[in-house]
Parts: sequence; C-alpha cells; structure tokens
Amino acid sequence: MLDTLTIRTQQTTASRLTHLDPERLEFGKTFSDHMFVVDYRDGEWQDAQILPYGDISVSPANSALHYGQAIFEGMKAYKNSNGEISLFRPYDNLRRLNASAERMCMPLVPEELFMQGLSQLIRLDSAWVPDSPGSALYIRPYMFATDGFIGVRPSDTYKLVIFTCPVGLYYNKPLRVRFEERYVRSAEGGAGYAKNAGNYGAAMYPTKLAQSEGYNQLIWTDASEHRYVEESGTMNAIFVIDGKVITPALSTSILDGVTRRSVLQLARDWGMTVEERKVSAVELMQALADGRLEEAFGVGTAATIAPIAVIGYQGHDHELPAPKPDSFSSRASAALHAIRTRQTPDTHGWMVAV
Ligand SMILES: *Cc1c(COP(=O)(O)O)cnc(C)c1O
Repeated sequence: MLDTLTIRTQQTTASRLTHLDPERLEFGKTFSDHMFVVDYRDGEWQDAQILPYGDISVSPANSALHYGQAIFEGMKAYKNSNGEISLFRPYDNLRRLNASAERMCMPLVPEELFMQGLSQLIRLDSAWVPDSPGSALYIRPYMFATDGFIGVRPSDTYKLVIFTCPVGLYYNKPLRVRFEERYVRSAEGGAGYAKNAGNYGAAMYPTKLAQSEGYNQLIWTDASEHRYVEESGTMNAIFVIDGKVITPALSTSILDGVTRRSVLQLARDWGMTVEERKVSAVELMQALADGRLEEAFGVGTAATIAPIAVIGYQGHDHELPAPKPDSFSSRASAALHAIRTRQTPDTHGWMVAV
C-alpha cells in the first residue's frame, strides 16, 4: 500500500489542446493530453505515473485479451462558472470498481491511489474540461490483466489506467426500445452487476438485431422467464406510474448505477414514493394502455437521463407520452445539472473538488 503517493509525471511536449473544438465533440473520440497508469505486481500497486496519452503494448498472450479479466468505470468532472472543477460521486465509482474487481478476481484499488491519480490527472489536464452548457469531462478508469500466459487462472499482474475525454451536450433523442425476450445480458449469479468488458461484447449481437429492426436499444428482461425488466441498453431503467417512481430492484444481474441512485434520491427528497421491486413487461404494457404510465427513461453517466418514446413488445410498438418540462425526468435532469455546476446547494455531498 502506498501511504504517501508520488506520481511521476511526464508532461507532453506536443499538447493537442489547440486542435480541440469544443463545439464539435463526438462522444469518446477526443482524448485529453495525459493518462494515469499504475502497475500491479508482486502483490502491490507500483510505479504510479502520469504520461502523455498514448498506446500501451501488451504480450500477444495477454490474459485479459484471451479470458476477459478487464473492468472499467465511467464518471464525469464538471467545471462551474468560476472555472472550478468537481467530480460527481467519485467514491461511488471507486466502490463499484472494487466490487467489479472482486467478482473478476482482480486486485482492489486503494482509495488514495485512485483519488490521487484521478485528481492529479484532472488538474494537469484542467484546460480540457469543457464549460459550455451540458458539457463535461468524461473519465474512463479501467483495469486489465497483463500476464503473458494462456492458462486459465487469475493473472498475477494488472494495469490500472485512467484517461479522459471532453464531451459535449448529450443530445437525448427520445429512444425507441423493445423488450428482448430471447437473448440475455446477464443472469442471476452471473457478473452483470460488475462493469466487466465481456458483458458489453455479449450484448452487441442482440442489440445489433434490434437496431436492424429500427430500435435504438433493448429492454433486457430476466434470464429465466423474460418477464421482468432488468435494464435498458447500458442504462438502468426507471418508470413513473401513477406518480410513483418505480425501478427494478438491484440484484446480481443488474448494475448498480450511480445515476440511478442519484435520481431515486432526488425523488425521495421531493417526497415521491419510490419502489425498487420487480417490474414486469405485462405491468408496464397494462399501465400504458390505461394511461397510467407517465414516464419511462434510461439513466446513466453518459446521457444522465434518456427518455423512452416507443416500446416494442411482442411485435407491436407502443408510444409513450412526450416528457414535459414538469415531468419527473425533466426536473431530475435539471436538478442534477444544477448540482454538478454548483448552481444549487449540494445537500448530499456528491461533488468532490479536484
Ligand atoms: C454503467 C452502467 C449503468 C449506469 O451506471 P452509472 O453509474 O449511472 O453510469 C447501467 N447499466 C449498465 C449495464 C452499465 O454498464
């Protein structure tokens, strides 16, 4: 364990900042100048460094590439009108990174290492944090096995990397989704609650099929009966029925989203009833037919809140009411934006200055 953390920093001699066009930021395609890299070997994290963003070389026998010991996180930093930068709930992301690490037999990341690496990286690349409305610095921490060994067993060595991407306003085109009743993203007892790379690779084929039918995303259902909602694409799903905020309860097959948790907290702060329980496709379709399904939306770091406009179920498309400015999802989205840009008091202590 590292008590006092010195991070060797090699600054770039060729900053790409001058090429940055904050008006034209495509999600995940523009990378800031530096990255944080630390290696795990002989049972400890060592050689924490900040380096110019660049390629990493691995053995052809790299065990992450063969057997999938690879996990990641997604989080954001925001700049307020005074130019101050804060992270949104970074300790929640660290806790989840470590939950994923445990599930995948990977080493835990000490808080000091993560927070120091993250803050020093963001301070160095502070000019990359955009400040136009709705923009943010997307942060991608990830860890992968680095043993060059093709036996199936947990690797002895790992690399933890953090890099960042300035991202613009996420345009929330209302989503067309359909219930998936054949393929599964994740099953009880599996690793769906972990943010491990393999979950996403396996979800691409069923998602591609739905996209070829004109949908943007799937609503994943439970692996045993295909009756209950799990998640929507790579977001958690939240519904408003009769004024109550309803979302699938967490389980080993559902990812514990920080946005989900934050939106549910806001609902509770506003005195709304929040139910975390099983939600079936039949219940939702019935509520929609009765005019009681007021809202359906996905929640996640990239989009914050993505309203669902159409739900396909057993071959039929059903339209949902369009969100209004006083809809819960619109108010929650505005409230989170105000907290993140420090325009409103941060009563839950979610923001951490870097
Ligand atoms: C990351 C992720 C989410 C959303 O989590 P946030 O912490 O809100 O970004 C939801 N579902 C899946 C499968 C995810 O990978």
